Amino acid sequence: MITFVPDPGLLESPRGRDWPVLPAVRSAAGRPPESADVVVVGAGPAGLAVAAALWHHGVRDVVLLDRDGVPAHRFFRRIDRLGQRVLRSPYEHHPGVEGYRDCELLDFARLHWGLLTPVERREIRMAQAGHRSVVPVDVFEAYCRHLVASHRIGERLWRAEVREVRPGTDSVTVTGAGFTTTARHVVLCTGEQRRDAPDDWWGGGIAPPGVGYWDEPVPAGSGGLAVIGAGLTAAHLIADGLAAGRRVHWIVREPGERYQCADVNSAFFRPEGRSRFESVGRRDRLELMARYRRASIMFEFRPSLQRAEAEGRLVVHRGLAVAGIAAGPRVRLADGTRIGADHVVLALGTTPAAEAALLPPEVAAARDGWPDLDERDLSYRRAPRVSAVGAAAAMVLGPAARNIDGHRVATARVAAAVTAFLRRGSPVQETARERVMTGV
Ligand SMILES: Cc1cc2nc3c(=O)[nH]c(=O)nc-3n(C[C@H](O)[C@H](O)[C@H](O)COP(=O)(O)OP(=O)(O)OC[C@H]3O[C@@H](n4cnc5c(N)ncnc54)[C@H](O)[C@@H]3O)c2cc1C
Repeated sequence: MITFVPDPGLLESPRGRDWPVLPAVRSAAGRPPESADVVVVGAGPAGLAVAAALWHHGVRDVVLLDRDGVPAHRFFRRIDRLGQRVLRSPYEHHPGVEGYRDCELLDFARLHWGLLTPVERREIRMAQAGHRSVVPVDVFEAYCRHLVASHRIGERLWRAEVREVRPGTDSVTVTGAGFTTTARHVVLCTGEQRRDAPDDWWGGGIAPPGVGYWDEPVPAGSGGLAVIGAGLTAAHLIADGLAAGRRVHWIVREPGERYQCADVNSAFFRPEGRSRFESVGRRDRLELMARYRRASIMFEFRPSLQRAEAEGRLVVHRGLAVAGIAAGPRVRLADGTRIGADHVVLALGTTPAAEAALLPPEVAAARDGWPDLDERDLSYRRAPRVSAVGAAAAMVLGPAARNIDGHRVATARVAAAVTAFLRRGSPVQETARERVMTGV
């Protein structure tokens, strides 16, 4: 049997190159405007996709609000915290706009051929031939800057933390510290937050000393490290620890770690996978989500992790759940094993951000933890002037909704529906009234 083992050198793309991009447009300053046609909350990859699509549709009165005030800042901050140099998603999964002849991620990379390493150029050839390809974070970041400049997004982006989104009959009121913006439509692109440890690990509340989460700094040093989690984040933390000469304990609850291209079965990135998801009821969708969205690690990590394990630098505890974490720090496993380390990192994944907390409870109407969205335009059933793009759309679009490619699909639906509503005024509004009146 031939085993496909990609070159581990793919993981080492340089960061911080000097990419020539379009002249940046002035960033918005001061308070957000008091009114807008559309407010987009969150300027991560999803918010950028929505803003760019609206620009193509000719919708110009758009206000983007993000607590960091910098495009995709949280995304790159998380990636850089982990020392991640390549994206997991391939070139075809780009945050550009479906159906418009834009400069796409692959075109952008080819335009800057001279800046790329031989390994990166080979990946472009792979992408052109329709094979799996790996995108450097550096290319992706430069492309996001290009997207912002070419769609004049920067001048519509304000640094602002949204505290409340209150839908009314004719408008939606968006409120934060020191500002209120009234919009005809709001798109929530608030992303995901890290998953917290179960309360029973240490009794809830702040983590014990020496225990941190994946998106927090890991104290430097050569002392032992324990990493809990089975995903790519865990793999990066382990690789970083090993590179610093630390002995690493890796705690994987599942019987073994999984090496895959993506956490999501690739069918769900394609129309047939999405339509399979959309053709079944809520219960089956939950089952598909549980079955096909599972933590895994990029193939490229396998050689180095297996070598480290064989050499005893990495100790893998497979098939054992964490029973508790005590000061020390010391991790207790289900079979009674106790693991001591200088630092314990929790890489437990993410959950959809609490966008529901922004909305009145009767509007958020979460079922099984997922918002209740209209399948056609991803608007909240009880607030048709508010829609969601990103992880929150997973009960409509399937497990890939949280990924860059899922944003592209969601954006196509949302931007077309919002544009139609703004142009004609009536369709969405009428549907809105009908839905509120019938309580559907
Ligand atoms: C380390 C890591 C690597 C990943 N790599 C990939 C990959 O290679 N390919 C892929 O497809 N996916 C990847 N993902 C999944 C990834 O989360 C998404 O693709 C992407 O970040 C989601 O974009 P988003 O815009 O939905 O969310 P985010 O990037 O989280 O952006 C949401 C934005 O909303 C802002 N926000 C939230 N709430 C508010 C509020 N109340 N007021 C104002 N602003 C607010 C946040 O500050 C943030 O900037 C990765 C995730 C992680 C954590």
